[in-house]
Amino acid sequence: MVRYVYDFTEGGRDMADLLGGKGSNLAEMTRLGLPVPPGFTVTSEACRAFLETGSEPAGLWEEVSAHLAGLEASAGRSLGQPDDPLLLSVRSGAKFSMPGMMETILDIGLNDDSVLGLAKVSGNERFAWDSYRRLVQMLGSTVMGVDSSRFERSLALLKDLRGVQDDVHLTASDLAELVETYKNLIHLETGDHFPQSPAEQLRRAILAVFESWNGERARLYRRREHIADDLGTAVNVQRMVFGNLGADSGSGVAFTRDPATGRSGLYGDYLPDAQGEDVVAGIRNTVPLAELKRLDARSYDGLRTHMRTLERHYRDLCDIEFTIERGTLWMLQTRVGKRTAEAAFVLAAELADEGLITPDEALARVSGEGLARLMFPRFDASATGTALAHGVPASPGAAVGTVVFDSAQAVRRAAAGEKVVLVRQETTPDDLPGMIAAQAVLTSRGGKTSHAAVVARGMGKVCVCGAEELTVDTEARRFTAADGTVVEEGTVVSVDGSAGAVYAGSVPLVDSAVIRYLEDGRGGGGSQGVDVVDAVARALARADTVRRLEVRANADTPEDAVRARRFGAQGIGLCRTEHMFLGDRRKLVEQMILAGTDAERDRALADLLPLQRRDFVGILEAMDGLPVTIRLLDPPLHEFLPDHTELAVRIATAQARGEEPDAHDVALLGAVNRMHEENPMLGLRGVRLGLVVPGLVAMQVRAIGEAVTERLSAGGAPQAEIMVPLVGDVRELRLVRAEVQRVLAEISRAAGVVLDCPVGTMIELPRAALTAGRIAEEAEFFSFGTNDLTQTTWGFSRDDVEAEFFSAYLDKGVFSTSPFEALDREGVGRLVNIAVAEGRATRPDLKIGVCGEHGGDPDSVHFFHTAGLDYVSCSPFRVPVARLEAGRAALE
Ligand code: ADP
Ligand code: MG
Ligand code: MG
Repeated sequence: MVRYVYDFTEGGRDMADLLGGKGSNLAEMTRLGLPVPPGFTVTSEACRAFLETGSEPAGLWEEVSAHLAGLEASAGRSLGQPDDPLLLSVRSGAKFSMPGMMETILDIGLNDDSVLGLAKVSGNERFAWDSYRRLVQMLGSTVMGVDSSRFERSLALLKDLRGVQDDVHLTASDLAELVETYKNLIHLETGDHFPQSPAEQLRRAILAVFESWNGERARLYRRREHIADDLGTAVNVQRMVFGNLGADSGSGVAFTRDPATGRSGLYGDYLPDAQGEDVVAGIRNTVPLAELKRLDARSYDGLRTHMRTLERHYRDLCDIEFTIERGTLWMLQTRVGKRTAEAAFVLAAELADEGLITPDEALARVSGEGLARLMFPRFDASATGTALAHGVPASPGAAVGTVVFDSAQAVRRAAAGEKVVLVRQETTPDDLPGMIAAQAVLTSRGGKTSHAAVVARGMGKVCVCGAEELTVDTEARRFTAADGTVVEEGTVVSVDGSAGAVYAGSVPLVDSAVIRYLEDGRGGGGSQGVDVVDAVARALARADTVRRLEVRANADTPEDAVRARRFGAQGIGLCRTEHMFLGDRRKLVEQMILAGTDAERDRALADLLPLQRRDFVGILEAMDGLPVTIRLLDPPLHEFLPDHTELAVRIATAQARGEEPDAHDVALLGAVNRMHEENPMLGLRGVRLGLVVPGLVAMQVRAIGEAVTERLSAGGAPQAEIMVPLVGDVRELRLVRAEVQRVLAEISRAAGVVLDCPVGTMIELPRAALTAGRIAEEAEFFSFGTNDLTQTTWGFSRDDVEAEFFSAYLDKGVFSTSPFEALDREGVGRLVNIAVAEGRATRPDLKIGVCGEHGGDPDSVHFFHTAGLDYVSCSPFRVPVARLEAGRAALE
C-alpha cells in the first residue's frame, strides 16, 4: 500500500522528492532534536495522484485523520476544540522552492466558537479575533477564490471609520466586526459560507495546495527554470505557535552567515509581537538579530546554538525562520541558503578552513558561472541607492547610459558617441541594430529565455529583462517606475545585469578585485577572515591540482596571448590568421586575388610573407614553451574585398559624370561578382581555399616555419602546431599536409634545423566526425570547432537563428538553452564521441581538443572531460572559468 502521510519524526532531508524541500528539512530538524512544532507532511505523490484523477486518492483522508489524532493526543486538545482549540498551519512545499504556489494558511481550526475559547485561554481577546480574521481572509482568498483586494478594502474602510492608521489600533470588537464583514463578503462572492468545521477547513486547504501546483504563475516559473511539470508538491500540516502574543513573543528570520559576503556572524531580523510574514512584509520596523540578546537572552542563546547545530549538520550556510511564543523558541523552517557568487567562494574557503568540508567539496560548491560574475566590473555598492526597478538578471555586467526607446534612436545616438540603454517592452529581431549599439538592454516583459535575454547574452551585453514594475510607453518615449518616477528619453540610468536592477542616474563603477588579481596577482590578504580574492585563488589552485583537462586560450595577437597566459592558459588552442589579412594588408590580398599571372600572385604573397612571419614571432614569443595552434586561413576570400554595392555605386557615379571608371574598381567588381556565393558559410573556404588558391598554404606555412626558426635562434622554445580548417575528407588533408611538409622540409634544409610542427585538423563538419578514423591517418591532432560543427549538424547559421527564430524555438520548447552556448550533447556531442573513439582507434596518441566557444562554457567543459578530450580552448577571459570547471568535472 502507498503511504501518503509522514510524521515529521519519520522523514529526513534525503526525502525531498517525496516530502518537498520544506517538509524534508522540518523532518531533519525534528530528528536533530531542535524545537519544531509537531506536524506531518502529505507527500507529493498524493498530489500527483490528485492531479491525475481530479480527486483525493483513496485512503488519503483516513491517513491525514490518523496523524491529526496523533497531534491532538500529544497536544491534549483537539483541532478547533471550542474551549481550547488546537490550531494548525497548512504550508505548501515542493522539491524546489517555487513562487506562485499557494500561500501558507495559518490558524486553521478557528470558528465562531473556538475563537471565544482561544480568547479565554490566551487571556488576549484581541489576539484571538485578529487570528480569526486572518484565517477568514487567507482561506477566503486562497481556497475559496475571493480576490484578496476585496478583504483589504474592507479593512481599510474600517480603519478610516475608526480613524486609525495601523492594524494594531483596531480593538477586539473592531476585529470581530471585520470577521462578520469578511464572512458576508465570501458569501456574496461565492454563494458559499466560510467553513465552520475545522476538519473541512483542513481538508480544503490541503486540496487547494495540490491545485496550486497548476496555477498560472507556478507553471510559468517552472517553464522558465526548467522544472518538470509532473513533480507535484507536498503539503505540511503543523501545530501553530504564536509570535503575536505580546512583547515576550515575536518572529524572525536568520542566516548562519552573511549571504552577501559569506562571512561568519549572525545575520537576521526580528520583529517582536509578530506572526508569519510580518517580519519580512515591511509593515513595522524590524530589529537586527543582535537586539534579541537584550530582549530575550535565553531564546537568543538557544537560537545561536541551533544555528550552529544546523550549520555543522548541513555543512553549509543555512537560512532559518523562527518564532518565540511567550519566551519559548520554535524553529519553523530551514534550508541551505541562497548566496551571492562572492559569498559562495568565501563560504567554501571558510568551511574548508574549519574542517567542515574537504578542499574538493569546497571546489564543488563554487561555480564557473559565479566566477565569471565576479570578473565583471561592478557598481560601487555604497553608491547604488534604491533601485527604480528589479527584473530578471539576464546578462551580467554593469552599464550606464541614456535611455532610448527604439532601435533607430539607439543607433543614431551611439553613432554620435553617446552611451545608450535600449528600453523596450520586449525586443524582436528588428531591434538588433539598436541592441548592438546599446550598452545595455532593459525590457519590461519576458524571462531568461526571451529574445532580449538570449541575444544580449550572445553579444555579452548587459541585460535586465522582465522588469514588470516598469510601464514602458514607447510612443511617449518614457517609462514609469513603480514608485511613480517618470524617466524620459535622454535620461541617464545605470543597469546592473548581475543583480537585475536599474538605478536612476550614473552609478560609479569599480573594477573587479578578482580581475585585478588575475591580471597581476595583486589583492587578497583581506583584514577579516578569507577575502573573496583569496577564496577564488584557492578554488583555482585546487581545480588546477585535480583537473585532467588542459586549458588553452583562443588568441590571435601577442597581447591576447600574454593576458591568456596570466589567466593560466597552457597554450593557444586557436590562433586565427584572418585578421592578419585586414587593414593595410587588404591591398596585398586584393593583388593576390586579382593576379593575372603566377608571377603577379607570387609577388603579392611574397609581400605578405614577412608581415605574417612577424605576427607569428610575436605570438610564439608570448607563449614561449607552450603549444600554439595556428589555423590556416579559413574565411572565403571575398570577405577581404570591398562591398559589392559600394563598388557598383562608385563605378556608376563615375560613368554618370561621363568619366572613365577606375580600372582597379572595375577589376575588383569583376572579382567580387565571380566570387559571389549564395551560402558563403558552405562555400569556398577553409581547406578548400588552400587547395584552390595556389601558393596560399605555402606562404602561411613558410611564415610559420621561419618564425619558428627565428625564435629558435633567439634561444626560445617555440611550439607551433599547424591546423587545417573545414576538412571533410582525409584526401583534402593528405594534399595539404604534403604541401606543409614540403615547405617545412625546405626551411629545415635552408636553416639547418629540424622543424617539428605537428599538423592536425579541425573537426567541424559531420562528415569529418563520421570519418575521423580515416582522417586520423593524416592528422596528428584534432580540434573540435564546435561553432561550425553545431551549425553544420543542425543545418542552420548562428546569425540567422539568433536574429530570427531563436526565442520562438525557446518558447516552443524546441531548445531549452542555446546550442551555441551549451553544447548539444545529444546531436553534436554524439559526433564528438564518435570522432574521439574512431580517431584514437587509428592513432592512440592523437591529441584532441576543442576550440569553439563551448570550450569556456561550464556545462560543455564537463561534457568534454567525460568525452576524454585532452584540452579545451576558449577566449582568454573564460580561461579561469574553464580551469575551475575542468577541476569540478574531475571530481564528479
Ligand atoms: P514560505 O514558503 O513562503 O516561506 P511558510 O510556509 O514558511 O511560507 O509560511 C509563511 C509564514 O508563516 C512564515 O513566516 C512561517 O514562519 C509562518 N508559519 C508557518 N507555519 C507556522 C506555524 N505552525 N506556526 C507559526 N508560524 C508559522
Ligand atoms: Mg518560509
Ligand atoms: Mg570553423
